[in-house]
Amino acid sequence: MNVLVTGAAGYIGSHTCRLLAQAGHRVVGYDNLSRGHQAAFDRATDDGQLVIGDLANSALLEETLRRESIEAVIHFAAFGLVGESVQYPERYHRNNVEGSQCLLEAMQQANVLRLVVSSTTAIYGTPKQIPISEETPPDPINPYGQSKWDVECLLQEARGRFGLGYAALRYFNAAGASLDGLLGEDHDPETHLIPIVLQVALGQRERLSIFGSDYPTPDGTCVRDYVHVLDLADAHERALQRLSPGDCVEVNLGSGQGTSVLEIVEQAREITGHPIPADLAERRPGDPPRLIANNHRARMELAWEPTHSDLETILSSAWDWHRNHPHGYAQ
Ligand code: UDP
Repeated sequence: MNVLVTGAAGYIGSHTCRLLAQAGHRVVGYDNLSRGHQAAFDRATDDGQLVIGDLANSALLEETLRRESIEAVIHFAAFGLVGESVQYPERYHRNNVEGSQCLLEAMQQANVLRLVVSSTTAIYGTPKQIPISEETPPDPINPYGQSKWDVECLLQEARGRFGLGYAALRYFNAAGASLDGLLGEDHDPETHLIPIVLQVALGQRERLSIFGSDYPTPDGTCVRDYVHVLDLADAHERALQRLSPGDCVEVNLGSGQGTSVLEIVEQAREITGHPIPADLAERRPGDPPRLIANNHRARMELAWEPTHSDLETILSSAWDWHRNHPHGYAQ
């Protein structure tokens, strides 16, 4: 299939481009490189075609869709940091919601009717019932989650209006790196737990701050469901194969296992052999105490099976990446 991938130079985007290319799809990337890395896309696709452009540029999107005879779009391009979204909510609305609206306009004009979109567990807010199923009513508690829920509403509307077929893939905590060390996580600034823990192990940071130790969880620190980026990439390929115009697929992508911040730190100490000093700190605004996926629907509808999302594989693949690329793609 001819597939346009927005955010193709980002973390999950680049891993997915690689898998799509390996599966025989023709991938055209679209990225403004504001947060992604040209090198990530080049490595993932063996110097494939990357259009440098903004989501706001609906005309360029439409021209690209037509020129490349695109049959489906995978849409990663978005901002994804809870803390930043609390500080700059309008940035999240503009980039994530209005950007997706431009993409939908271009797709309607070019009559491209298959779309796989990155969504997030953050749309559920602080759900009462864990594990979280897709029936949980959306109730975001931060602007990032709100922006992604707004995008899902646009998809529903586009399905009714022009017959879009879409899959909204609601990720839990993406983590890990490609097993051969080619691709990995490189954010600036880095705010995610696992890369920060590994940067402490590498001596790039002195200590970890654990945000909150009085949550209603077994050890008082937040519990998250970490899912390997390769398992996420695999789900995108499956969604692409499965999707027809007019379809609606809404699935959670998580391992189904919860891991606390302290458990991550302890296992990282074992894998890296470094003491990883850590301090208990204040809670970070916008963080729910526990997020664990019920992934039954993804298993049923996409025949998806997370095969790399055990903590050992996540942490050791991430550790290999960080050790071998201490400055990310900039070396
Ligand atoms: N966290 C932490 N210290 C850090 C970064 C993150 O204690 O330096 C915690 C954060 O509060 C959350 C968990 O680790 O409970 C995962 O955070 P991350 O930013 O990786 O992902 P999120 O759950 O926000 O998508």
